[in-house]
Parts: sequence; structure tokens; C-alpha cells
Amino acid sequence: MRAAILTIPQPIQQRPLQIAEVPRPEMKPGHVLLRVRACGVCRTDLHIVEGELPPRCPQLIPGHQIVGDVVEGATAELPVGARVGVSWIGGTDGSCWYCRSNMENLCDAPTFTGYSVNGGYAEYALARADFVFPLPSALDDLHAAPLLCAGIIGFRSLRVAGVEPGERVGLFGFGASAHLAIEVLHAWKCDVYVSTRGASHRRLAESLGAKWVGAETDKPPVELDRAITFAPSGDVVVAALGSLRKGGVVAINAIHLDRIPQFDYDRLLWGERQIRSVANMTRADARDFLQLAAEIKLHPKVTSFTLGQANEALAAVKSDAIDGAAVIVP
Ligand SMILES: [Zn+2]
Ligand SMILES: [Zn+2]
Repeated sequence: MRAAILTIPQPIQQRPLQIAEVPRPEMKPGHVLLRVRACGVCRTDLHIVEGELPPRCPQLIPGHQIVGDVVEGATAELPVGARVGVSWIGGTDGSCWYCRSNMENLCDAPTFTGYSVNGGYAEYALARADFVFPLPSALDDLHAAPLLCAGIIGFRSLRVAGVEPGERVGLFGFGASAHLAIEVLHAWKCDVYVSTRGASHRRLAESLGAKWVGAETDKPPVELDRAITFAPSGDVVVAALGSLRKGGVVAINAIHLDRIPQFDYDRLLWGERQIRSVANMTRADARDFLQLAAEIKLHPKVTSFTLGQANEALAAVKSDAIDGAAVIVP
């Protein structure tokens, strides 16, 4: 099969992914072999390919937003031809304290799709049968792919931030994840304030009904109940903190941040403001979000790339060159 392979992490301008012919994944018990129909591109893929996340395998196929058809390993629940999604959490041990305590997103021995095992920048991918999700039939492959990490983890970020219906919520950064989160927030009757770099991202936020839109570290005109940051930048976290009311929460939706700069505790954190990180997702998050996505007819904005353009797709995510989500169609 054809696949995009990472051997040595390098800046994306050096084109670290090589498109090559490799053997199809070998079947394993408890797994399904999927023919990949589409695979979303996530900023985490960029952190893996550029080496901000340390390598876990000598050779890797990235990609953790896989839409595919079951071709082998079918069961009664997952017949041949069933269309399913695979996300970032590719498996957990099911036995550690976190798994037993309903926090499988924090599992001590997780499998990460497209990081600790091969992912979906390929024609075929292997996935644990108990970690695939049926997808809303209303969405085609291209539009279903971004739901699988951008959507699910964006939704988890709203939960971690403790968003209540009708609240004022800030989104700092407006890429693949935020452009889906805003629609969930509107379904919950929240007012959404968006601070983001890039004029076209600001226009997209306006067109999706943001109450107010400003530049990257602009302060919204009201105090926010909750804020979610999506940019891999600690300055943005501090800007988000500075726009919260007392008792408000910032949730950081980023697996990697450049740093957290020094900031003024008395002014920014005192008053029971909180900073929380968002780590991974549970299967319950996935099921709840995919059901909500179908109910509210969530429709991602996507730009498609071929497998041969995998480096270009990641470069586009890095430079904010596209609105919404990038998706590879092998
Ligand atoms: Zn565990
Ligand atoms: Zn992701």
C-alpha cells in the first residue's frame, strides 16, 4: 500500500514525510483492518513530524482522524464494509487506576494513533475494534474526518472548561477545532468571543456567528466565564487569563506549548481563576460528541489534499493557510 512515512522528524519545510510503498498492516486479534477513505490533519501531527513530541517508533505513519471501511477482522457489530472513525486514543490498558476510575484519557499505558502506532496517512490502517466509532451517516468521508480529533477534543475542552448553557465563552485561536466548537457553543446558547491571528480566520469566525472577533491577543469587550486556547502559545494562555471574570476557567487545548511566560498572579489568577489542560479523550467523549454533531448537523469546513501532498497539508496547518480543517484523501 502507499503511505506517508516519517523516519527523522524535521521542520515541515524540509518535507520530512516520504511517500512510499509499504506492506499492508498485519491483522492482530481484537483489531480491524480499515481501508482508509479519509484522514484528517491535526496540529499534533505537525508536532510529531517536526519533533516537538519525542519519537516513539523508528518509522511512523502519522494521522489520527481516520475514516475507513472494515475490510478484515469483521464482527457482528462491525461487519465488512462498516464505516467507522478512529481517533487519537487508539487503546488503553483498561487496568490502571485512571482507567478503573473513569478517566481513560489519562491512562498510564495508552496507545496513540499515528504516534505510538501507525495511523491513517495511508491506504490501510489497523485499529483496535473497541476503539472505533460509528460515524453520522449525514456526513461524507471528507467532512466526517475532522470530527475525530478536532471535534472530539474541542468538545472535551468545553467540558474541561465547565461551560454552562448561556455563558460567555472565549475561543483563542480559530482553526480546525475552534470552528467546530463554536457551533456546539451556539447549540448551547452561549455567546462566543473569538481572538485569532489571520484575517481569513477572523472572517470565518464572523460568518459562523461569533458575537465579537479580534486579533490574537486582543481582549474581548466583556469578562468571560470560560476561555479555551487552541494556539500552541503561552502568550495566548496569558491573554485568555486576562479576559476572565473571577472564578472563570481557561482550558488549554494543546498537546505542546512553546512555554508559559511569567505573569502577574495578583491580577490574573487570584480570585479563583483556574488554568486547566485538556489531555486526550475518552470513548464517552467521542460517542457524546458524534451524537451531538449529528443532532446539530455540524458541518466542518474542509480542504482536501492527496496522500502525495501530506507535507503540503501539514505546512498549510502550520502557516494557517487554510480555514477549517485539512483532510488527506488517499
Ligand atoms: Zn489505563
Ligand atoms: Zn489531533
